[in-house]
Amino acid sequence: MTSTLLRRAWMPIGLAALIGYPLVSADLYYQNMLIMTFMLAIGASGWNIMGGYAGYLSLGHSAFIGLGAYTTGILAVREHVSPFLGCLVGGVVSAIAAALLSLVTRRTRGMYFVIVTFAALQSLGVVATTWSGLTGGSQGLALPLPTWSLTYQNWPFYYPMLGLLVVTVAVSAWVRRSKLGLGLFAIQADEDKAAGLGLRTAVYKMIAFVLGGTFVGVAGGIYAYYIAFLNTAAVFDIVTSVLIVLAVLLGGRGTLWGPVLGAFIIAPISNVTSTGLGGVDAGAIRLLLFGGLLGAVAIFLPRGVLPILESGFRRLPAREPDLPAHPGADRAKPVSTAGPDRAGGPPEVLVVRRLRKSFGGLRAVDGVDLTLLQAQITGLIGPNGSGKTTLFNVIDGTVPTREGTIILRGHGLERKGRPARAHAGLARTYQLPRLFANLTVVENIVVPERRFAFARLWARRVTAAERERAFAVLEDLGLAAHADDSPADLSYGQRKLVELAQVLWLDPVLVMLDEPAAGISPALSERLADMVRSLRERGIGILLVEHDLAFIAGLCQQVYVMARGAVIAHGSVADVSAEPAVVDAYLGDSVVPVHAEGQA
Ligand code: ADP
Ligand code: MG
Repeated sequence: MTSTLLRRAWMPIGLAALIGYPLVSADLYYQNMLIMTFMLAIGASGWNIMGGYAGYLSLGHSAFIGLGAYTTGILAVREHVSPFLGCLVGGVVSAIAAALLSLVTRRTRGMYFVIVTFAALQSLGVVATTWSGLTGGSQGLALPLPTWSLTYQNWPFYYPMLGLLVVTVAVSAWVRRSKLGLGLFAIQADEDKAAGLGLRTAVYKMIAFVLGGTFVGVAGGIYAYYIAFLNTAAVFDIVTSVLIVLAVLLGGRGTLWGPVLGAFIIAPISNVTSTGLGGVDAGAIRLLLFGGLLGAVAIFLPRGVLPILESGFRRLPAREPDLPAHPGADRAKPVSTAGPDRAGGPPEVLVVRRLRKSFGGLRAVDGVDLTLLQAQITGLIGPNGSGKTTLFNVIDGTVPTREGTIILRGHGLERKGRPARAHAGLARTYQLPRLFANLTVVENIVVPERRFAFARLWARRVTAAERERAFAVLEDLGLAAHADDSPADLSYGQRKLVELAQVLWLDPVLVMLDEPAAGISPALSERLADMVRSLRERGIGILLVEHDLAFIAGLCQQVYVMARGAVIAHGSVADVSAEPAVVDAYLGDSVVPVHAEGQA
């Protein structure tokens, strides 16, 4: 009871205390400390959208403070624009800068992203210093002083900054609960896979970066008016970026309130050191101190304070009741995920011609031709290392190639990116299942997007209709009880089934399955075969890589045999089993071709 009350009440109580504080205390020192805390919390919450949700760590976030501050300062000095309007322009400038930076870095990942953002911050600082005609350069820029009466103290800075913090946290909360957030978390876990499921990852990341930068830019503008004097070295400061990252990591990366909590811990420490440390070395000492703290937090508190506090809370006996039962649990009518009737189109669903891919001197795929028909199951067999997985990778765009054509339902795919290939109706599973470990099973299933729509991004992570549909799919798989579990709680075979359900969410025209039956129990394998047959009945084309020839023989209408990157035989299972080249290719392998049984 008390813990529930505490969980619900701490936020309004905290906010009321912060709103009331300047009214009851005239202590400017603490008002100042809180203003700086709010700014750091805005920076940390904004950073968290890209860094915590999508997993892209930036060391250049203080650049947005600088851009907002200088935009506001320059407008105030040269055009006599009120800083409270100017800071909004600062937000727009930051948003544009964030969009540009995310365009430049759209193929940059991991450590390289950190370096590029750091470099962007440094170069903006250099530009601001050298462009002295605009910024005042190293001389600095003095803003007009506030004109209001001293009785209002710091209120005109305090309340806008607090209001902006509330807005930033609200936006961050809403991103978490939306499809945008679901996509960002998927990107964090496995960006390539997310792209293969049709997510326009570059757009997701750009929106995250812009949302994260805009409010920080506005805060920078308010800050400029507050300190009234801008100095490029102080505003485009790496220490501020380090403080932002430190606050997020300390509080809890990827959580909603962690960055705010972290800022409320870090900002006062920073405040004390910046007033306590004087002299020429103060900047270097602060960098050393906070850089060292950052390292220590990363090593000793990798999850941050908030997740630890929360798991403490969870251990208390009185807790919130569990989520209501799954909607649709009682009327578990399987809902067909079948799309529009495919009977009318041409019979070829995929036509591949002269496809080649070399890794250095190794010809992994060497001039492959394939023709797959709709409502047909095609087997692809061959010894290990013969190029089957690489062929999948070239067809779905994981591995680029310049040679050959790939035509899916009349659309040339070879020049398209991965999301576009998914949008055209191409789906594939992986030899080792790749589910998003940071999402639940249901969330995993509903991630795929057959088409991109901005409006969809703002919908709930999992809408009620989607949940019901996904639940029916899971029920069919016998996995309904695991709907809200992490994929890590599933067996290997169950994960394979969930991955299949996931790619079917795309409503594809062609599904490529890479060794779906390998390593799973006979019972699951039977269930899998049934699923593949039902896909065929829905008119979907299927390309199936499998070593178990009995499995292939029981399902496939035609088979391609690969060896050393090339197709060496093609026809019915019985035909290819009789070919001497096939028997040769398998010599040394333990696989013995079998004869077709029960072909459909
Ligand atoms: P299969 O799936 O038929 O077992 P693969 O397509 O995985 O075969 O591999 C075909 C050949 O290409 C192998 O010799 C493999 O080592 C090589 N290969 C696959 N991917 C890469 C890569 N990214 N870089 C270099 N060589 C690769
Ligand atoms: Mg393989």
